Amino acid sequence: MSSVVLDRITKSFGAVDVIKGVDLSIAEGEFCVFVGPSGCGKSTLLRIISGLEEQTSGRLMIGGRDVSGAEPSERGIAMVFQSYALYPHLTVRDNIGFGLSLAKRPKAEIRERVEAASASLQLSHLLDRKPKELSGGQRQRVAIGRAIVRNPKVFLFDEPLSNLDAALRAQMRLELTELHAKLKATMIYVTHDQVEAMTMADKIVVLNGGRIEQVGSPMELYNRPATPFVAGFIGSPK
Ligand code: ADP
Ligand code: MG
Repeated sequence: MSSVVLDRITKSFGAVDVIKGVDLSIAEGEFCVFVGPSGCGKSTLLRIISGLEEQTSGRLMIGGRDVSGAEPSERGIAMVFQSYALYPHLTVRDNIGFGLSLAKRPKAEIRERVEAASASLQLSHLLDRKPKELSGGQRQRVAIGRAIVRNPKVFLFDEPLSNLDAALRAQMRLELTELHAKLKATMIYVTHDQVEAMTMADKIVVLNGGRIEQVGSPMELYNRPATPFVAGFIGSPK
């Protein structure tokens, strides 16, 4: 079954067409990576799926339901940004549990879910710290924990590792791949980094100028690039 379906999605800001008709179907449990050069529309497409931005035209389905016009909180998704957007005055525990508190879940349930999410991210020993007492990698784990704890069907990531150094990025790539295997959730992951796309994706969507150039597995794109753009983009080292 399809988890997320984009049906002729377009987006214009004023007179500028940024997304120019995107058709895409992402299967349940798939790790789908949007890749492409800066400004090609990756974040805009992700923000449309999340509901932070509304498409100009086209239909968007999540979990078999037309969510066009639905609030972000009604979409069964959780989003992880590049800038971690943690609350500086709250502990790790309260940052991770913030959404559940807002939703007025019982305290015991919040504690249990925060602790389970923290354990899966090696954060259990840091629950009482504030964000400024954490490393970059730990902060990014907290941001991911905040998404996991809500138990979404679909995770959206916008360049979550781009603020980390190369060694930590490599480690987090592995951790995210393991997390995906464990949670079996649909993940849509935006990056401009070919290595991330090639190593993490079940399916890669190559975007260029607001359009899809090609969709395929890493090996399909590598072995049979449909356009010179795809060949150059997938082939070129970071
Ligand atoms: P990417 O994430 O691939 O780097 P974006 O989706 O952020 O690209 O942006 C795609 C294009 O849309 C860029 O040209 C950007 O300047 C433009 N854009 C994005 N958001 C807005 C906005 N709110 N208003 C006007 N233009 C925007
Ligand atoms: Mg972007």
